[in-house]
Amino acid sequence: MTPKQNKEYLKNPLPLIIILLTPLIGLFILAVTADLRVFILIGFALSAILVVLLPAHLRLTRMRAAAELQLQDIRERMNLVDFSIQKEDQTIRSIQDKITDFSQLKVVTEKLSQCLTLDETTKTLSREIRRLLGDKDATVILYLFHSKTGDLGISSSHKGQMRVNLKTKKGDEFDHYLVKTMQPLLIEDLKSDYRFDIDKVKIQDERTIGSLISVPMTVDQRALGILRIDSPQDHKFNTQDLRFLRTVGDVGAMAIENAQLYQHVQQLAIRDGLTGLYLRRYLKERMPSEVARQLRNDGRLAFLMIDIDKFKVYNDKFGHMAGDIVLKTVGEFMQDFFDQPGVLLCRYGGEEFAVMLPDCDKKAAAELAEEMRRQIAMKMVILRREKTNITVSVGVAGLPEDAKVVDELIRVADQALYRAKETGRDRVCLAGEG
Ligand code: GH3
Ligand code: MG
Ligand code: MG
Repeated sequence: MTPKQNKEYLKNPLPLIIILLTPLIGLFILAVTADLRVFILIGFALSAILVVLLPAHLRLTRMRAAAELQLQDIRERMNLVDFSIQKEDQTIRSIQDKITDFSQLKVVTEKLSQCLTLDETTKTLSREIRRLLGDKDATVILYLFHSKTGDLGISSSHKGQMRVNLKTKKGDEFDHYLVKTMQPLLIEDLKSDYRFDIDKVKIQDERTIGSLISVPMTVDQRALGILRIDSPQDHKFNTQDLRFLRTVGDVGAMAIENAQLYQHVQQLAIRDGLTGLYLRRYLKERMPSEVARQLRNDGRLAFLMIDIDKFKVYNDKFGHMAGDIVLKTVGEFMQDFFDQPGVLLCRYGGEEFAVMLPDCDKKAAAELAEEMRRQIAMKMVILRREKTNITVSVGVAGLPEDAKVVDELIRVADQALYRAKETGRDRVCLAGEG
């Protein structure tokens, strides 16, 4: 008999009773026909056995049922223990993830805290994001908002180790979406993301984008820029990556703000507060190396000394504030006029300006000065509702013909300026002439 059959018998005792009763009935028939006393004895013995067996069976069944209940109870408790172990496992895993995130964040924070300039800071930030979230195919882009126009501009863009030149300089569809919402953005699979038109994205940029995460960088609710990483593969990033990027973005935003403040303080130290032009000190610091370079390479360098004519009159007639407006106007004009790489323009003092023009010979510098003088003379400044003209006098000196050292170059340009004043103002005079 198999254990299963055994079990059935215990549950339903009828077959067992029939099996036991059949020999009893047989014995009873035998007793009636044969020696009655012997068989009656055997019959009694068997009945006694039956009387003992039945309660034992019933007790056994009850014990089985109780054991089964206990077993179920134990199983339920085991399930509960399993469930709580799973939960503990999850908690441990998420704590481990957090510890990893924190230690990675600590490294990023330490590296960022060593950066002083904005350039260093943005480069470090984008390198760290590449290291922690990217691979050779992922592109990290860091945008900063222009402080004056508010436009988005790329500050750093890298694919793997390489710098990449992106076509969409002011951000693409995703960046504009982020600027609009100012909320972290996760695109797990661009193909199935209803928020964006894939064709439009493809037209804007030739790069393939499968997935992307992007966060705004803000400090005290002031938006500084956007941090983003995208990959040609889909499902490259998940919510955990987005959460991490968000934290790195917060740390990065603070580092960027510090760098901007540092830059601002540095600018304050070298720039004039009224016109925004460099101070004389800065020009004097920069000139010796440029002069030495030109002399070494047998190059040319020109120096202009510019002074506003009869400036005192503006102050006397319209007040000091109006005088400041004239200075600002002339400063802004000259900044636009001399907006060339390498040119160094400074407010030399009071109403005097100086310009260093590297790789420019004296003749070209004189022509430039004459054009500048002409344009300023044509300019109208409205002071106290009165149309007023401004004129300037200019002294031009050239390296190497007029001088071979900085101080001498400045001195001869100043002499030429003095001559321009002496001979009637509103003119350009060249050193070594007249
Ligand atoms: P010239 O044609 O000979 O150069 O005559 P000028 O009046 O321009 O020259 P002068 O040196 O006699 O006067 C310069 C004036 O510039 C005197 C000073 O009060 C004024 N000045 C210097 N710095 C500033 C400034 O920052 N703001 C204002 N409003 N005036 C200034
Ligand atoms: Mg003057
Ligand atoms: Mg002067």
